[in-house]
Amino acid sequence: MHKGIAASRGIGIGSICVIVEHELTYDAKKIEDVESETKRFQDAVEEFKKETAEMAEDIRKRIGPKEAEILEGHLVMMSDPTMAGEMEKMIAAGQCAESAVSAVCDMFIGMFSKMDDDMMRQRASDISDIKTSLLKLLLGIKDIDISKVAPGTILVAKDLTPSMTSQINKDNVAGIITEVGGKTSHSAILARALEIPAVLSVPDITTLVEDKNTAIVDGTEGIVYINPDGDVLSQYIRKREEFIKKQSELKSFVGVPTKTSDGDSVELFCNIGTPKDAKKAIECDGEGIGLFRSEFLFMDNTHMPTEDEQFNAYKEAAVTMGGKPVIIRTLDIGGDKDIPYLGMKKEENPFLGYRAVRYCLGNKDSYVIQLRAIMRASAFGKIKIMIPLVTCLEELRAVKELVNEIKKDFDANGIDYDKNIEVGCMIETPSASLIADILAKEADFFSIGTNDLTQYTMSVDRGNADVAYLYSTYQPSVLRSIKHIIESGRNAGIPVGMCGEAAADPLMIPLLISFGLTEFSVNPVLVLTARCIISKWSKSEADSLTEKVMAMATESEVVKALKEAAKE
Ligand code: PEP
Ligand code: MG
Repeated sequence: MHKGIAASRGIGIGSICVIVEHELTYDAKKIEDVESETKRFQDAVEEFKKETAEMAEDIRKRIGPKEAEILEGHLVMMSDPTMAGEMEKMIAAGQCAESAVSAVCDMFIGMFSKMDDDMMRQRASDISDIKTSLLKLLLGIKDIDISKVAPGTILVAKDLTPSMTSQINKDNVAGIITEVGGKTSHSAILARALEIPAVLSVPDITTLVEDKNTAIVDGTEGIVYINPDGDVLSQYIRKREEFIKKQSELKSFVGVPTKTSDGDSVELFCNIGTPKDAKKAIECDGEGIGLFRSEFLFMDNTHMPTEDEQFNAYKEAAVTMGGKPVIIRTLDIGGDKDIPYLGMKKEENPFLGYRAVRYCLGNKDSYVIQLRAIMRASAFGKIKIMIPLVTCLEELRAVKELVNEIKKDFDANGIDYDKNIEVGCMIETPSASLIADILAKEADFFSIGTNDLTQYTMSVDRGNADVAYLYSTYQPSVLRSIKHIIESGRNAGIPVGMCGEAAADPLMIPLLISFGLTEFSVNPVLVLTARCIISKWSKSEADSLTEKVMAMATESEVVKALKEAAKE
């Protein structure tokens, strides 16, 4: 049995096809004929663009526009004269095309991979993908045609690049195993979009298996079996059937109101990163947007998005949601998210530093641009403003003051906006939790960010693997904090939602129902699962489990009790 990262749910059983990486070796010779070498390079670039555009088009049709964007990004990078221009300069100085491609790509990879932020590090993997494709074209290497693998194939690769994934035929590929990649890597995103079970980051897997070995990929638990014995195989065949049955049962939850088994209604919203994701939320039957992470608009850009650019993005989300709530979180940067063009200082403790609302209130000019864009878009739907990383009442007051000033300006200039636009707080710091009763008197709503609340409550960097054992929402301290926030909001008569990952956690759901959470905001693909689990619990059942769990002293006892009581 091998363990890795559970990247795409489900059970895949089949026969392995190892995607061998070719040695991209070449003789780094000095060239004499610059003109013909430049032509050889340009031909390879043209071929790359042609193949990438075809693959992007194919993926757009078969999977969706969001997934095609990854390859389109490669196309943009190679169409931009920056990289190609650098390469041509090196060829003009006598380097062969292969050396020029390698050196320039390595320079950019080095630059992006040092960045703290996930999105930027992803650029490094995009450029590495481009480098491999260009070198293969220059060296005349052809890969195996993934689109033609036999039905029931389990693909095993060091890393599955977007260009490889784009060739996958969902009917033939039963599972994916890789040696690298995390939950948010492109291969994970694409595997989830194709609904193919995937386990990533399984150490040395490419050297441990051979073509035609039988494999089980448990993408829900992050487990892989190679040549399993008969018992394990039959156990997993059963599990696969159960999973498939459960998935088809979930279809019966499409269009159904989200209710507990005894009829208490709650709202089931989605977390999104771009306005285009709002379409996905609608397709997945989300009832609103509980978290629009606006920083992606800033991160996917080379300049600060203008008021109009932001307005268009927020308006698109509002219009797509057709009057359903869209909660836009104002810029949450700093911490693990850097935006190079903002020139933010490197900090000793970025998670405790100049982050989110702190940065925004320190840079009021750009914050006002964002607030104006959000407020103008509020004329086109039900938009709400949410402030990240609040730690004290002054921050909420300062943002509300800016909102009021903008209202006055809009009124004076006849600019349309929703005069009742709500301003709420994310509760994701221990400080905000402890003063939740105070904040609740002046906030229109709360949304609990358990990802950060857990990090700050447990004093655990959420990205540090060495202390990951402490990073758990089931810790009694975190549970108490969540309970307290929900009670404080309810006592003040304001709605309390949750947009951290815990909102979709089947084990947490009964506790959240019992605490009185009224809005769950989850990844769009988890809407039906969450609705199904909520429907299985009555308030009284949830209450008695919660009473038992809240009296427990350790995380392990809590997890055991929740697992025993789980209804999946
Ligand atoms: C959270 O902290 O729970 C949250 C939803 O925000 P993010 O994960 O973007 O920090
Ligand atoms: Mg957060």
